[in-house]
Amino acid sequence: MEKINIFGLNRERQNCKQNCCKKNIIVIRSKHMDSQLRLSRRHILQLATAGGLTVLFSRLDGLYSKGLWEGDILDISKVGPFTPDMGDVAKREFFGDDFKRVHPYIWKSEDVLKKPPHLKEKHKVVIVGGGLGGLFSAYQLRDLKPVVLEQAPQFGGNAKGQTWRKTRYCMGSAYMTVPAEGSVMEKIFKDIGLEKFYKFKKGHEPVAVDNNLIADYWTTINKRLPQMNEIDELVEDFNLGRNGRIYPEISGGTKITSAVKKLDRMTFRQFLESEIGEIHSELLAQIDFYCVGAFNATSDEVSAAAALNFYCAEGAMVVLPGGNGLLAEQLIKHMHPTVGDKNLRTGEIVLRVEVKDGGVAVHSFCPETQKITLIEAEAVVLACPKFVVGNILKNIEQDRFDAINQYKYRSYLVANILVNKRIDPTFYEILMVKSADLKTKMTGKNLRRATDIVHASFGMVGTDHTVISMYRPMPYEGGRQELYESGAYEKFRSEFENQIRNDVLPILKINPHELVDIRLTQWGHAIPIAQPGLLAGNVCQKVRAPHKDRVFFVEQDNWALPAMETSASEAIYWEPFVRKVVSRKKSI
Ligand SMILES: Cc1cc2nc3c(=O)[nH]c(=O)nc-3n(C[C@H](O)[C@H](O)[C@H](O)COP(=O)(O)OP(=O)(O)OC[C@H]3O[C@@H](n4cnc5c(N)ncnc54)[C@H](O)[C@@H]3O)c2cc1C
Repeated sequence: MEKINIFGLNRERQNCKQNCCKKNIIVIRSKHMDSQLRLSRRHILQLATAGGLTVLFSRLDGLYSKGLWEGDILDISKVGPFTPDMGDVAKREFFGDDFKRVHPYIWKSEDVLKKPPHLKEKHKVVIVGGGLGGLFSAYQLRDLKPVVLEQAPQFGGNAKGQTWRKTRYCMGSAYMTVPAEGSVMEKIFKDIGLEKFYKFKKGHEPVAVDNNLIADYWTTINKRLPQMNEIDELVEDFNLGRNGRIYPEISGGTKITSAVKKLDRMTFRQFLESEIGEIHSELLAQIDFYCVGAFNATSDEVSAAAALNFYCAEGAMVVLPGGNGLLAEQLIKHMHPTVGDKNLRTGEIVLRVEVKDGGVAVHSFCPETQKITLIEAEAVVLACPKFVVGNILKNIEQDRFDAINQYKYRSYLVANILVNKRIDPTFYEILMVKSADLKTKMTGKNLRRATDIVHASFGMVGTDHTVISMYRPMPYEGGRQELYESGAYEKFRSEFENQIRNDVLPILKINPHELVDIRLTQWGHAIPIAQPGLLAGNVCQKVRAPHKDRVFFVEQDNWALPAMETSASEAIYWEPFVRKVVSRKKSI
């Protein structure tokens, strides 16, 4: 055990209690099971082919459905979206995106691929990227046994989580809307057993102004600021299709209408001001806080179409234990028996995708083994961000390349605070503002702190400890470079610690001695900016159009809308197109 100092307190670093991080095993544990089951990957495969895995998982499903989360761990330790327990004190380093692992290879892919491939395979479908978009695609196409290639050591993309004292908490993508009744998404959620985990997020959350928690901030704002009523009316108009307004549908198979394009030609602020006149500074500040939280950009930068698409859909929100990582895990769990263990691959960086000889050649590289694999596929789904597509898609069309270059991505930081006491989940999210924020127009560059506290244990009841997340958008250009700089971790850690000491502890009435650890996650290219003109100028349409009838695109940046719903609905939309290519049965 190593003694270390965090936040002025001495702690001990422990090895992973399960001691499973170093071993190639899958651990499935439950205190309600007779014994701990330790299964090698080979055993899992055997069970899967014998149908045993379904039985095993359904036993766990049964436990979860009884609400027995506390004490149950489903730990697909090598590849799942949740990192197992790292003990009370984790290493002082960024979790999340690991730039150093990918950049040397992706930037020099031609050099790496000078060597001949070590392995050659043939598959019907290859999916590049194992974030929610890639996993939804793989789930939808599971009968075709697609190969999923994810560059990171774990699946989940931005929807990953960690575990502490059996509590799962989220490191990024946290909550989602309730799928519409009768929708394909609702059916998928039922099929993968997600509904039993639903915990609903309240409509009106408290706001901390100068550390004073105001529980009724949103219920009283309409009285203080009548313009809020006008905005509420507008939202209702869009949602009910009243007064000539229609909710701006964007993702999936929906056609971008001229009304949506019109909204997309202006910023959210321009739209609101055209409707309700100059916006009161406090209301504008709140609108900007909403925009930077959701889009990593202010109301002067976000398209009105994109902002209304999000803002009008706010309502019944679902929080899963551990956030949207649980969705990723359920998708993996439920496709795994059909797709097969060997087809779900992490640590494989795709360096080149090329349509040739009546098929698609996909080259991937594993930095750990230094091996190159060439897969010949009938169809490929690129579920990686478009700046990656620009790098790896050989013979990319000039207009697609130019369209991709119009996209801008911004970084995000998340801190998870481990607290040694139960904090009642009477809130999910608390916005932290200063009274000065409510008087001055926000500029992204000046926002250099976390804006929200989230009760990360919200989806898990009955614990005597709590995880609190802090979300820190970086709504300005150059944020990613700040993360690359040497000393970045200590710099941001110290800024988080100051904010925790000065704001979070007083707001949540936590004593410093109750803090156990602080864990920082960086998301380098996390959010594509929903800038005006991407829809109206057909930029997104060019970016997501199939390439040479064999390569399809599924990711949140298909529509520059950073939400799980975008990734999922794109996966659902493109599924039949992929099937059509495969059913052509043209030899490759
Ligand atoms: C801090 C934060 C909070 C968020 N909160 C929410 C929220 O509450 N609700 C919500 O709906 N959305 C939220 N989002 C948006 C979130 O990004 C989406 O929910 C969703 O996770 C996006 O999934 P995706 O598959 O489209 O993209 P990604 O998660 O980015 O997945 C792309 C995958 O491609 C992989 N990849 C990239 N290059 C390669 C390569 N060359 N070879 C192989 N693999 C590659 C990446 O490693 C990654 O796993 C949040 C995002 C962030 C950063």
